[in-house]
Amino acid sequence: MPLEFFKENEEVFNTLFEAASEGVVVVDAEQIIVTVNKAALDMFGYKKEELLGAHLNILIPKKYKANHHEHFDSFMEHSEKRQMGHGRELFGVKKNGDQFPVEAGLNPFRAGGERFVMSLIVDITVRKENQRQIRELNAELEGKIKIRTQELRNTVEDLEQEIAKRKEAEKRIKLALKQEKELNELKTKFLSLVSHEFKTPLSGILTSAVLAEKYTQTEQQEKRTKHLTTIKNKVHYLNNILNDFLSLERLESGNVNYKYTAFSLNKLVNEVIYNANVTLKYGQEIEYDNDMKDLTLYQDEKILELVLSNLIGNSIKYSPEDSTIFFRIYPKDKKIIFEVEDEGMGIPKKDQKHIFERYFRAENALLKQGTGIGLNIVKVHVENMGGTIFFESVENKGSKFTVTLPNQNR
Ligand code: ADP
Repeated sequence: MPLEFFKENEEVFNTLFEAASEGVVVVDAEQIIVTVNKAALDMFGYKKEELLGAHLNILIPKKYKANHHEHFDSFMEHSEKRQMGHGRELFGVKKNGDQFPVEAGLNPFRAGGERFVMSLIVDITVRKENQRQIRELNAELEGKIKIRTQELRNTVEDLEQEIAKRKEAEKRIKLALKQEKELNELKTKFLSLVSHEFKTPLSGILTSAVLAEKYTQTEQQEKRTKHLTTIKNKVHYLNNILNDFLSLERLESGNVNYKYTAFSLNKLVNEVIYNANVTLKYGQEIEYDNDMKDLTLYQDEKILELVLSNLIGNSIKYSPEDSTIFFRIYPKDKKIIFEVEDEGMGIPKKDQKHIFERYFRAENALLKQGTGIGLNIVKVHVENMGGTIFFESVENKGSKFTVTLPNQNR
């Protein structure tokens, strides 16, 4: 009898097992408990005599029992040492019915011609609890990380919005600064211009006035007229500069309202030619087709007059005496083309790309009076009215400016 065998050898077993901290339960081939150590008794809450001779099932929760039997049998057949459970959780049941997680290792052996299995059992309640706590802590940590990540994401979004706002503000400030700078530049230019460009004509006017005053005799009318013409020309010149500046300021502040009206092209041309004739140099003439069929233009008349006067004025100024200025008009289907060509000093190649820039004056023009404003204004106006302007020029040969405008003839 196996039980007997163990009883006889109890002392030996006791000495061997009692020292073990794991619970030791030995069963025979029928799963009858033949011996247990103290650790196992403490673990399951039984007294020794209660377990000896009892079926192993007494230590296994009900729901695992059926299963356990099969396992046990196949295990006995293979008779090998192994860990129980295989990934499943194992439970033991105490005398008071409490279940607790265990880890069990099975060791089959033979003694006295019988087969036995020694189970080494460890109560893993504490380990499981620790694992559960670790899992809980991990879950808590993950939750916190999620919250922190979201917070960080929100902060980054806030920062991005703030950066965008600041960039926008910076752009506005830069623009304001640029406008302020341009206005200051305009004022500075105006002051330096007044001191330079006004000085010569004003002293010319003064001289002519002083001289005219001296011709008191009736027959000296011709001499008086000569000086009065000089005065008129110089006043005209100063007036043009002031007009240019006023235009510039209005263009700058976006205060130009174009007044589109229907008017006669011939009337406009006559006006422009009449005013230009007054400023012609000795021997200069303006050639234009005065038999041209009249037509009605729909444009801002004053601005168009300013544009054409400016171009013809430049041709007069930058051409020598005894030269011809050609003023040609080509009415096309939906547009009208104006050409002003001269036989003057032309524009040096290297300066040509800057000619429409404000205040720019070509190198060969510096000895003539001027501000470098006119062409800039002309270009802005022409483009505002839906037109284009370009020029061709060869130094010492002449220049040709071409303005194309939509002819909104109604
Ligand atoms: P300003 O005549 O007061 O200098 P503009 O803006 O009218 O200013 O002209 C800019 C520059 O273009 C002139 O200084 C001159 O160098 C050049 N320019 C304009 N028209 C002519 C022309 N018909 N012939 C030669 N140079 C010209």
